[in-house]
Amino acid sequence: MSSPAAAAWLKSKDVMKAFLESFGGTSVIKDCTYTIIAEFVPVTLDLENANACAEIEKDNNLPPLSILSAKWIKPVHRRLQTQVTAHLIITLNTPKTANHFLRNGAYIKGKKIWARKLLQEPKRCLKCQRVGSDHLANDCKLEHDICGNCGEKHRTNTCTTLDPDHYYCINCKHHGHAAWDRLCPKFMEISTRFLARNPTNKYRFFLTNSPDTWEQILPPNHPDSGIRPPAAHRNPTTLADVMTGP
Ligand SMILES: [Zn+2]
Ligand SMILES: [Zn+2]
Ligand SMILES: [Zn+2]
Repeated sequence: MSSPAAAAWLKSKDVMKAFLESFGGTSVIKDCTYTIIAEFVPVTLDLENANACAEIEKDNNLPPLSILSAKWIKPVHRRLQTQVTAHLIITLNTPKTANHFLRNGAYIKGKKIWARKLLQEPKRCLKCQRVGSDHLANDCKLEHDICGNCGEKHRTNTCTTLDPDHYYCINCKHHGHAAWDRLCPKFMEISTRFLARNPTNKYRFFLTNSPDTWEQILPPNHPDSGIRPPAAHRNPTTLADVMTGP
């Protein structure tokens, strides 16, 4: 699998999709896709339509098949009837096309939209709730579900514990917060280590050999952090953070 021919084979869209699915997304190939969150995209975009991605490519002068996938971050059936926009996860095949979205925005269904880089975060298995796990719920070896709220043996969505004081975090073994809490000391510890292993999260754009992609996100206590980047250059985000939007 190391010859150039094999690499070209893996890069073809369908083969890569199959490859990713069969390896559960843990393979190195995953690093060759570039995921962004497009904000406030008109819900008139119909992802059931096989040409949806091709239309976005055409409207933004992107090469054909640049977009590997596009999906709404929240299920369509949970939308409010009055909702006109929603956030969209777009996976692209090159850092150049992804950076084009981040830098210039894009037109989708005639509306100008802006995008953020999606940061890599440690994964949490939704079955056993382990943070920084090497598996997701589908491959979890645990026989029963662990509740993300109270730590008991049931699915999180059937939990009857409403009072956060009665939450129990299975990761740090403490009461008072849930296993999904991003302020959990265990989550923060694992995140810090994860970030150190994934230094690309420190950059606003996807890195290429072009120096204009090397802009770093400054920590809040940095003396220059008051200098705001152009409004279009939004800070990268985690999926969890953006889930509070439409
Ligand atoms: Zn698990
Ligand atoms: Zn529970
Ligand atoms: Zn915890």
